[in-house]
Amino acid sequence: MRRHGASLPAKASGKASSVQAVAAEGPGGGVRILIGEDDAAVAEALQYSLTQSGYAVDRVSHGPAVLEALKDNVFGLLILDLGLPMLDGLEVLRRLRRRNHRLPVLILSGREKADEKVLGLDLGADDYLVKPFSINELQARVRALLRRNQEHAAQPVISYARLKFDTVTRTPSINGRVLPLSPHEIGVLEVLIHRFDRVVSKDQIMERLYSYDKDVGYNAIEVYVHRLRRKLEGSGLAVRTLYGRGYVLEYAAAPNEDLRLKDLERPANKAGL
Ligand code: CA
Repeated sequence: MRRHGASLPAKASGKASSVQAVAAEGPGGGVRILIGEDDAAVAEALQYSLTQSGYAVDRVSHGPAVLEALKDNVFGLLILDLGLPMLDGLEVLRRLRRRNHRLPVLILSGREKADEKVLGLDLGADDYLVKPFSINELQARVRALLRRNQEHAAQPVISYARLKFDTVTRTPSINGRVLPLSPHEIGVLEVLIHRFDRVVSKDQIMERLYSYDKDVGYNAIEVYVHRLRRKLEGSGLAVRTLYGRGYVLEYAAAPNEDLRLKDLERPANKAGL
């Protein structure tokens, strides 16, 4: 494993205690960033630019090294190339989220891999950039992710039965396995889990989904709830329909079949992009 910049001085003297403190101390604010990228030119450019901004930056060039480095638990952000050798970025992300790691992750994907980008977001990546991208754009995304993470840092992981919902990464999991939910389905689950055991109307769900889709109708909500209900099998929870009133997320009356995660199981890339 190659590690660089271990002794780079951070601009700030200690951990920033608030968003304002980060701004006052400069963008870096003492945050340590890990870059998992096998393209040395890209990795070096990112490391240089982020170091100039006051971050402490380490980089590694293959999947297992990313997981190994994160065991130190000193990083505030991971920039993860999806096309990594030995263990691809999606598999790294999946294993990371299985450990229930709340680290913010910015994924870098190749232009032709739009489906991987979507899957990465579903697996709990916080943001993505498609190559080629500008360094300024990357810097802006990094700042936004760190800011958002600080704002949510105090919020707990919500847990009912076997379902855990990480409110920072917006990642639902059952027994540590991340659920393959679409952004719409995650939006529905968010509304329901924040009002656990209480009735949620379709209008309340519609309001929540408005940021994804301005034209979402009652029929679409029924479809999302139907899919969500299926994906929650094995969680010990159920979504009950109250006709004319809405939905309730509650404890399931009887054990359900095992969760189907087949659509998530794909072989890891042997080579990088
Ligand atoms: Ca690559």
